[in-house]
Amino acid sequence: MESGKQRLLLHTCCAPCSTSVIERLRSDFHLSAFFFNPNIHPREEYELRARQMREYARKAGMEFIEPKYDTERWFASTRGMETEPEGGKRCLVCYRLRLESTAEYAARSSYDYFTTTLSLSPHKNAQNINQIGREISQEYRIKYLEADFKKKDGFKRSLELSKTHDLIRQDYCGCIYSKQGKEKEA
Ligand code: SF4
Repeated sequence: MESGKQRLLLHTCCAPCSTSVIERLRSDFHLSAFFFNPNIHPREEYELRARQMREYARKAGMEFIEPKYDTERWFASTRGMETEPEGGKRCLVCYRLRLESTAEYAARSSYDYFTTTLSLSPHKNAQNINQIGREISQEYRIKYLEADFKKKDGFKRSLELSKTHDLIRQDYCGCIYSKQGKEKEA
């Protein structure tokens, strides 16, 4: 481990979003990638995103941690919220589920911090994500790094880096409902 750097467990939603976040954080932290995304549907899409992220983490010299793809837990948590719009209640539950697992693992494995790449997306409200991060930080007694990674051209930089590294960015957020929403628009 690089001397003097604190350990940060980075919840990563996919490789394209992780590119500029990793670039931004790596001078200050020793990073590990935590790929817990049971929201992603279907399984083939999950496997594609996991494979890309695993490979990107390897290139970046980071540990890659992939917990169980627990879709039952995700569907149980979001039941009754199927018709919520993107950014609504279902998404808040989805952020919380993924951040809780990240914090739980980080606390158990003696990381100094946890955070997530989720705020990189222009479709996601960083205030909501940070509010959930702060609450979970207290519950699990581990520091949360507040961020809005889309700012300072973070999203634009992720597009450049994704192109450089040949990473595929899908046109829907991840869950079956976001996929159906995109298909309706087409
Ligand atoms: S739209 Fe995205 S953040 Fe919202 S519930 Fe679906 S996968 Fe989760």
